[in-house]
Amino acid sequence: MRARAQVDLAALRANVRTLKARAPQAQLMAVVKADAYGHGAVPCARAARQAGAEWIGTATPQEALALRAAGDTGRMMCWLWTPGGPWQEAVEADVDVSVSGVWALDELLPAVRAAGRPARVQLKVDTGLGRNGCQPADWPELIAAARAAEDAGLIRVTGLWSHFACADEPGHPSIQAQLAVFREAVAYAESRGIAPEVRHIANSPATLTLPEARFDLVRTGIAIYGVSPSPEIGTPQDFGLRPVMTLSASLALVKRVPAGHGVSYGHHYVTPGATTLALVPLGYADGIPRAASGTGPVLIGGKWRTAAGRVAMDQFVVDLGGDTAEVGDEAVLFGPGDRGEPTAEDWARATGTIAYEVVTRISNRVPRVYV
Ligand code: PLP
Repeated sequence: MRARAQVDLAALRANVRTLKARAPQAQLMAVVKADAYGHGAVPCARAARQAGAEWIGTATPQEALALRAAGDTGRMMCWLWTPGGPWQEAVEADVDVSVSGVWALDELLPAVRAAGRPARVQLKVDTGLGRNGCQPADWPELIAAARAAEDAGLIRVTGLWSHFACADEPGHPSIQAQLAVFREAVAYAESRGIAPEVRHIANSPATLTLPEARFDLVRTGIAIYGVSPSPEIGTPQDFGLRPVMTLSASLALVKRVPAGHGVSYGHHYVTPGATTLALVPLGYADGIPRAASGTGPVLIGGKWRTAAGRVAMDQFVVDLGGDTAEVGDEAVLFGPGDRGEPTAEDWARATGTIAYEVVTRISNRVPRVYV
C-alpha cells in the first residue's frame, strides 16, 4: 500500500470513556464533523456510541443526515445552517437543529408543517466568540419567537448552548466572561418558560480543564481523537488520551546521489555531500502541508528525518544521510508516539498550524484502515 491512515477505534472508545469519567455529571456529544476530523465519520460515530456517547454532533445538516442514512438512531445535533438548508429532512430524521436567529425559525416552521411533526431546536447564543450564535441583544426576540413556536406545538426547545473562543488558553479572561453571559442567557430563557433538556458550552479544552463549564453536556471533538487542543492545555497523555490516527507510507524509491544535487521543485535543498535519498509518496494532495517543506518530521528506520526540499503534490523526499533504507520500508509521519514516531502535535509545531488541521486535512486519497 502506498500510504495509509490507520484509525484505532479501540483508542477512540477508550478516549470517550476517559472523557465521560472526567465529566461524570454531563452527557457527552462526540463531534464528528469534517468526516470525524479526518478519521471517518461513520465508524467513529459508531465507536463513540459504543463507548457511551449519548449525542453525536456535526456542523452541517448533510453530515448529520449521512449518519442517519448509515443507521445512527441516537440523539444528534447539527449547527451550521444556511438559507435553503434541508430543514424538513432534518426534522423527519429527528436531528436537533441549532437556531441562531429568527431567520432560521422562519425557514424551519414551514418545514415542520410539511413534516407533520415538531422540530427539536437548540438555541445558540453568542457569548463572545463572535461567530455563529444570537447576539445577547437579540436574544429576547429569539426567545419570544421560539416560545411562540413552542406554544403552537411546532418546536420543542431541547437545548440552550454556546461556544468558547479561548478555552484552549487556560486563564484567558474571555472564558469567565463568556460563562457569565451564558449563565445570564440561560436564566433569561428559563425565566420566559423555556425548559431545555441540555445546556452546554464546553468543547474539548473546556471539558479537560474547566469543571464549571460542563453544565449538562460536553461537546468533545479533538479529544476523542486523542489529540491535544493546544500545547498550553498539555499532551494527550497528560489526560490519559490516546492518539487515534497513525499516518504512514511505504518508501517508493531509495537512491544514491552525489554532493550538490538539488532536491524537489525550486532546489530549496541541495545535498551537502554524497548521500541517500528516500521518496515518501505523500504530498499536499494527500493533506501534507506544503509548509512542511524542510520541516516535516518522519520516522524512517528508527530515526527522525525531515522533509528535504519542497513537499510536492504527491511526494516528498528525505535525506537519509549516512544511513540507508529499502524500497517499501515504512515511513511514519505521525502516530501516538510510542514507537518513537512524531505526533500530530509535532507536525503542527513543525508546520505552524494546529494539530486539528494536521489530522483533518488528510485527504480521501489516503485509505483509512480501521483497527
Ligand atoms: N462545538 C462546536 C460548535 C464546534 O464547532 C466544535 C469544533 O470546533 C466543537 C464543539 C468541538 O471542539 P473541540 O474539537 O475543540 O472539542
